[in-house]
Amino acid sequence: MKSYLFLLLFAVSCVTVPKIHEIKTMSEVEKWIVPNTLVLFDLDNTIFEATDLVAHANFFNDMLKKYPGQREKTLQKTWGAIKKSDVKLIEPITPQVIRDLQNQGVAVMALTSRDMELLEPTLRQVKSVGIDFSKSCPKASSRYIHEGILFADDDYPKGPALLAYLKKANFRPSRIILVDDLKRNLDSVGRAAGAIGLYYPLVDKKRHLEWDEKEAERRWLEQ
Ligand SMILES: [Mg+2]
Repeated sequence: MKSYLFLLLFAVSCVTVPKIHEIKTMSEVEKWIVPNTLVLFDLDNTIFEATDLVAHANFFNDMLKKYPGQREKTLQKTWGAIKKSDVKLIEPITPQVIRDLQNQGVAVMALTSRDMELLEPTLRQVKSVGIDFSKSCPKASSRYIHEGILFADDDYPKGPALLAYLKKANFRPSRIILVDDLKRNLDSVGRAAGAIGLYYPLVDKKRHLEWDEKEAERRWLEQ
């Protein structure tokens, strides 16, 4: 009886535990493609990072953690900065990787947790790095999709947001891949849609060299 129970638990855990693999460069994405794959890319700290410190995802994530009671202040500061900030690619090869997938007919989308209030700057920033996510994005009418970029947020996590969209698009990929720098997003999309998570921690790995924690906090504390 015990062994049956163990087997049952094992089978259930195989279905629900998301598969997450760390990658060192965007050029590794291609080897995960099988026929009828959908590839999703996170934006912040995956495709690009803000050139302005307050607009950077590190600022947002750190200050939310440090001052959880002042979420609204962190949001307003970050959003205001994102509206004005430029971005730079994490890896120069990324736009070419995406173009190659699109040219092979692979379905590609972006999946971001940015609020819809940031729609205009998001479209501007994606364009500025030479990426067009609309080229092979599965089509459906939804207020959350713009130029191949699907917007989720804290109240509407990436997993459920993606599932709802794919249902609307009537699109059933044989494999879903999400490239993201945050494990909680890989977990959300893995659990909701069975996606394979490609964990991309490049910004985190260079953090000790490039990120000025003290300056970030000073900027948060100023008016
Ligand atoms: Mg990110």
